[in-house]
Amino acid sequence: MDMINTCINCGGLLDAYYDYEKMKKEMFFEKTRTRRRDLWRWRELLPITDESNIVTLGEGGTPLSRCDHISEILGIKNYYVKNDTVNPTGSFKDRSFSVAVSKAKELGVKFGLTYTSGNAGASFAAYMARAGIDAVILVKEWAAREKIGMIKIYGQKMVKLDFDSFSEVTGMLDQVKKNLGVYQFGVFINPFRHEGNKTYAYEIWEDLDGKIPDILIHPVSHGGGIYGAYKGFKELMALGLTSRLPRMIAAQPAESSPIVKAFDEGKIEAEPFGNPKGTIAQSIGTDAPIGRGKRILKCLLDSGGCAVAVSDEEMLMAMKWLGREGIFAEPSAAISVAAAKKLIEKGIIKENETCVSVVTGSGLKQVEASYLAMGEELKMIRAQYDELERLIES
Ligand SMILES: *Cc1c(COP(=O)(O)O)cnc(C)c1O
Repeated sequence: MDMINTCINCGGLLDAYYDYEKMKKEMFFEKTRTRRRDLWRWRELLPITDESNIVTLGEGGTPLSRCDHISEILGIKNYYVKNDTVNPTGSFKDRSFSVAVSKAKELGVKFGLTYTSGNAGASFAAYMARAGIDAVILVKEWAAREKIGMIKIYGQKMVKLDFDSFSEVTGMLDQVKKNLGVYQFGVFINPFRHEGNKTYAYEIWEDLDGKIPDILIHPVSHGGGIYGAYKGFKELMALGLTSRLPRMIAAQPAESSPIVKAFDEGKIEAEPFGNPKGTIAQSIGTDAPIGRGKRILKCLLDSGGCAVAVSDEEMLMAMKWLGREGIFAEPSAAISVAAAKKLIEKGIIKENETCVSVVTGSGLKQVEASYLAMGEELKMIRAQYDELERLIES
């Protein structure tokens, strides 16, 4: 296999396929039951030929948490959070970079490049460091300090990137690919990133005892997460393990929602739209998704889902609800919980339907947002019995 990012003939996006008929005969899923609960448990459905190339930090295998407090707020019976905040670098990006970096190692890649709003950069830098491959990371100028600090520690080369529309970034990266032949790790431009995200689907199916939820909500920027999950459910169908897909729902910040606009207008391609700097959801603010968002819109249409726009206030509210469940999420991740609320109010999600919100990134990555949600105020007392007594009694 060659070190290529996109089709050498037409420049189009690539995708990986497997011999599902063979796996079906071998009862592949039976074999996985006794393996360690991480992403590589599903290695037959991942694009690595030689297992010695696997670069892992223990990603995947995250909890599917039943959330009864939130269920009550939402007014539905069966509500779950797929808690991907607990991945090694604190976001679901670890699923995709463990796979993409392992594949890069297998292909003999010596140098890699990616653009990031922060989480991808942290994950990429960590896995590339572990693989011993040099990397350059272009980080969005307004990324949170926590994310930038993390990338620094992993010891790769990083610069801040200033731009107005994401189409400038795509254009620049395209040229670097053509002129310098640099291997890239952006969503879909690297064909193996979303392969890692497929594993959500297998894990959710397994945790629901072989059932598929009615609804799956995912925060969406370029769509590697939601498309990966969709592909995973399609594969479960190809393997004869389920007969249907969940309705896939894309959640986007209202300020930066090209997919919501395209979906509402009945289009199958998204035009650039919105202001990525105008939302607190730093990890998912994009005005121009890769490949004009065609893969995202396809998975919404094919599964009977939709796209929903969420305000910053609604995200902060959902962060508080998640807090009551012991889950600390960044706004870009809490958006999938806020989206559930909106869809229930609109009657799109029914009371008796099973709904899963994927919570994609930890609140530790953007601590400032938790102060916006909860306020700065904090009382102090002296270390004296009376003062503590007064506090306890009040
Ligand atoms: C990257 C990211 C997303 C969106 O991922 P896409 O694959 O670009 O749609 C969602 N949530 C968090 C926390 C992220 O870091």
